Amino acid sequence: MMPSCIRCHGRTTTVLTYHHSDAKAFLDDARGHEKVYDGILLCDVHASRFSAPRGWTTMDRRARTALPLPEASVRDGHGL
Ligand SMILES: [Zn+2]
Repeated sequence: MMPSCIRCHGRTTTVLTYHHSDAKAFLDDARGHEKVYDGILLCDVHASRFSAPRGWTTMDRRARTALPLPEASVRDGHGL
């Protein structure tokens, strides 16, 4: 079972890792990587809010780039 987001305890979708030698921060899909990287686990919300420290570069390597908004899940004509 995947640990939850460190900030809000929501569902983890992203692993954040810092590469100090390159001054880069990597955002990766958490699925399948949680045992590979010794990273910081984040949900969609906090992954999207992440900003690298000053002078660092953020490398977003996640496959999913478009994050659906909660409103997008409500389909016209199919509401309750
Ligand atoms: Zn979160």
